[in-house]
Amino acid sequence: MPVNLLDLDRSGLESLCVELGFKAYQGRNLLKWIHKHGVVDFDAMTDLPKRLREELLLHTEIRLPKIVFEQPSLDGTIKRLLEIDGGQRIETVFIPEENRGTLCVSSQVGCALECSFCSTGQQGFNRNLSVSEIIGQLWLAVHLLNEQQAVTNVVMMGMGEPLANFDAVVSAMDIMQDDLAYQLSKHKVTLSTSGIVPALKALRQATDVCLAVSLHAAENQLRDELVPINKKYPLEQLIPACREYIKDDKRRKITWEYVMLDGVNDSNRDARALIRLLEGIPSKVNLIPFNPFPGTAYRSSPAERIEEFRQRLRRSGMIATTRKTRGNDIDAACGQLVGKVNDRSNRQLRMAMRNT
Ligand code: SAH
Ligand code: SF4
Repeated sequence: MPVNLLDLDRSGLESLCVELGFKAYQGRNLLKWIHKHGVVDFDAMTDLPKRLREELLLHTEIRLPKIVFEQPSLDGTIKRLLEIDGGQRIETVFIPEENRGTLCVSSQVGCALECSFCSTGQQGFNRNLSVSEIIGQLWLAVHLLNEQQAVTNVVMMGMGEPLANFDAVVSAMDIMQDDLAYQLSKHKVTLSTSGIVPALKALRQATDVCLAVSLHAAENQLRDELVPINKKYPLEQLIPACREYIKDDKRRKITWEYVMLDGVNDSNRDARALIRLLEGIPSKVNLIPFNPFPGTAYRSSPAERIEEFRQRLRRSGMIATTRKTRGNDIDAACGQLVGKVNDRSNRQLRMAMRNT
């Protein structure tokens, strides 16, 4: 198989050019052509030496996910179904807002972590996405899809648990932030995780993107039920790791995602436990109305309950917002992304857990 150049970040492209007998800076030129200018035809990369272009044509390719289907929502949100190698399908969602355009990017086909309220988790797990499949979602949105609005922000909140696909996700986020590629600042890229503690520690060494943590419960017993990875990495481990992630930057905050489940985690007692748990941590709590999917027994807390919960957090001095649900009419909202996952059984699940 030829090397897919979309799998390589700046250092990967530099090494490739050196291997082919050229200077490393040609790798940076390549990065610019592919990601900044959106060029995939080697002949159009006019400042590369002709012999390098010939070598690239011989040994490499630039292969993007295929767009299978595009569905706009009444509120402007656009969900896209992409086909990747092996006939798997993943979803990516563009959310236009007044002053920004956010792309919600997937990191895996399905997810092995089986959170009880998430339809991706309920679908099972097939495989990790490669760098090209992750960055390809952004490439398509920026260069091909003519978004009415520029992509200004990326959130790793699509299908999958990004920290369970660590190397590819970090490499793709490097390309997102690279000056010669998409130039997104560290404030514009957010990784959302359910809390794989050792990988969270490693993430701090590898990058400085914004962190969102799917908390959903402030006590272990309930969190074990909603977010089963909590049994392996309980709150006593997760919370210090999160504190550590932002400790060098006084202006940074952790975003805590908290899905509002009627009668499950939305009582005044739950609010008090949450306030206690997050005391002293620079925080922003994002309350997410539960988005239903077929077969689920959960219901969203009513709007008044969510507002009361939010006010309680605010009265204790916390920043708390309610996420506006977007793309609900097309199943593009949080936790509704399903793509097409051929679950490869519990063996995959056990492997993913072991590797984390
Ligand atoms: N695996 C990562 C990122 C993908 S999920 C994580 O769990 O953080 C992105 C967000 O959507 C998470 O906060 C997740 O808890 C939330 N979510 C999942 N299912 C949902 C649903 N049915 N309704 C609302 N939010 C949901
Ligand atoms: Fe996976 Fe996140 Fe869904 Fe949990 S909420 S199953 S970690 S995608």
